[in-house]
Formats: sequence, C-alpha cells, structure tokens
Amino acid sequence: MESKDKILSIPVCPGSLVASICLGLSLGLSSFTLYANDWSRAQTPSSGSPRSVGETNSGCIAGAVALPLEGKGYQVMHIERGRYYGHPDLVKALKLLGQKAEQRDLGLMQIGDLGQPRGGPLPFGHRSHQSGLDVDIWFNLNPRILAESNSTRSNIGAPSMLNDSKTGLDREKWTSDQVKMLELAANLPGVDRIFVNPYIKKELCDVVAGNRAWLRVIRPWYNHDDHFHMRMSCPMDSTSCREQDPVPVGEGCDSSLDWWFHHDTTPTPKPHAAPKPQLPDECLDILAEP
Ligand SMILES: [Zn+2]
Repeated sequence: MESKDKILSIPVCPGSLVASICLGLSLGLSSFTLYANDWSRAQTPSSGSPRSVGETNSGCIAGAVALPLEGKGYQVMHIERGRYYGHPDLVKALKLLGQKAEQRDLGLMQIGDLGQPRGGPLPFGHRSHQSGLDVDIWFNLNPRILAESNSTRSNIGAPSMLNDSKTGLDREKWTSDQVKMLELAANLPGVDRIFVNPYIKKELCDVVAGNRAWLRVIRPWYNHDDHFHMRMSCPMDSTSCREQDPVPVGEGCDSSLDWWFHHDTTPTPKPHAAPKPQLPDECLDILAEP
C-alpha cells in the first residue's frame, strides 16, 4: 500500500553544487524553471497579515516572517539560499523546539530549508515548502560539524543516519537523542506530520515505550535519512490554505510500514515529469505586490 502522504521532494537536488545540474536537467521544463525563479527572486515577504495559500506543493504565503538565523538551541544552515521564511506558526514552533532541545541537552538543532519570502515553487530542492508550513531539520545534533563551516554554513551537508549499505541505521550516529528530538517535534502545537526514512520510523516503532500516540505523526517517506521534514497544519488565519488528507489513525507500525521494505523504494528522478504547478490566482497577486 502506498502512503497517501504527499511530500514531493525532488530527491536529486540536495545541494547548491547539484543545483546547477538540476537546473540543467530541467531545461525541458524551462517554463517551470522560469516560473520558479520568479518566486526565488522575491527578496522580501509581502506586506499584510500572514496567510498561507493553497497547498504545500502548490501555494504561496503572504506576510511571511523570517526565522532568526541563530537562536536558543538552533542554527539555520545554508543561509545563502534565503529560504528561512515561513508562517509565524512555523517560526514559533521552531523557536520552541530549539528551546526544548536545549533544555534537554540534545545538542544543537541544525535547520535546513523553510521557504522563500513569498513561498511559491522553488527552482531546486523541493516541490513542497511552498506555503510557509514546511521545514527540514537535520538529524545531526552534534555542533562539532559547524567547526568546518563557512560564514553562510553552506559548505557542509547533513550526515545520513543510515549504514553504508542503506539497510538500517548507523549506530554510531543514531542515538536516543534523535528519538527525543522527534518526540518533541511531533508534540509541538500545530504540527500536522513529520516525514522520516522508513528505517527511522521502524526504529521508533521498535524502541518507543510508554506514550506512543505521537508515532502517528511520524510518516515514512523516501530519503529523509539525513533530515526530517516537519509540516504544520493550515493555520487558523489562512482560510485559503488547503489541508492534505489527514494522517491515518494509529501508530503506523503495521503493514503500511512493511510495504516500504518489500518494494523498491528508491525514487527514480524524473525531472521531465514534474508538472508545472497550478498556483491559486491569489498567489499571483502576492507575488506582484511591491
Ligand atoms: Zn523538506
């Protein structure tokens, strides 16, 4: 059974170097690329009260706020991408998660992409992250990795939590701290779902004792072995935000999880198959605002 969750990350474009290759690959989709670039050129959020519009893989955001690049318990990575904008609900949740992680001595949370100042399609890296409700958070909590980083923290990548043969977790890297981090994230107010690699979901199913209700929020998905993807629910103020299908009831430690281990779950990159997103008309007004 295939999961109904929609994440639609483009798995072939994780870093800035690969970005240019990715753009090259999408030459057959030049209209999509240009379209996405219109959104990536917007340097500032639009004015007005915050509202997420449309779906996370076809949407935008008005009145987005920037996550400060450093805060209690966290640092934003790849600052050069300018993807640290989101709905205030998301920014608030991340600040809270950083504080909780610090209180529990979990290390330093490293935050990857949120969205662009006005959201919208991104020219590389993701298909979702469009409506200011998505964020990628590295599983690595060890701050030592930052000793090698440059001023924009753009020269280091998130370490995978899988073993070399990709058949399970790397026990040198994966610890109970990552479990605690996911529990904290899953219990934040307003979090709709969190995507992780199927081996990570399986690990949680195997080891979490006591209250397991939060496991429902944790969804297995392709890749996601070096970061988890946290998605907020549609905020109260966003009447034209479109929620995806609700997460199924239960812990998700059943045959729906087994599916991932009995099929080839390596996604084939299909850059030419990416459809041009149909954005809500409201988004064009948001993009056009000075
Ligand atoms: Zn993501």
